[in-house]
Amino acid sequence: MIEYVGVLGPPEALNYPISVCDTCREQGVERGNVIWGTTAGAPGLRRGTPIHVAHKGRCDAALDLWFAQVYFDADGWMQLSEELDVFARQLARNATKPLSAGDGIRTYPLQLALPRLAQETR
Ligand SMILES: [Zn+2]
Repeated sequence: MIEYVGVLGPPEALNYPISVCDTCREQGVERGNVIWGTTAGAPGLRRGTPIHVAHKGRCDAALDLWFAQVYFDADGWMQLSEELDVFARQLARNATKPLSAGDGIRTYPLQLALPRLAQETR
């Protein structure tokens, strides 16, 4: 996930966001994928998952397996992914840019589904 990590050292202690691999917990993933899920396309309220990060290779393969166990296809979940550097550029560009319907963009209500909640709603 994207998490806050505390850093000690001159000139001062800092907290700053950094990518942390959800499989091996290494901080500062250089070559990785961002993985999330949505129920877009399924009937009912659209749900979304937290944004996960994993190194490419064994870590994202392990995260894929965990994801499939927690967010079931039968419940309308589909998994999406993007390369971390592409996602980070999109986030930096959009983080302070409000969505406007005038731009031809449609927004919709979204319910965050944490892994435990996703299991309880089966
Ligand atoms: Zn990893």
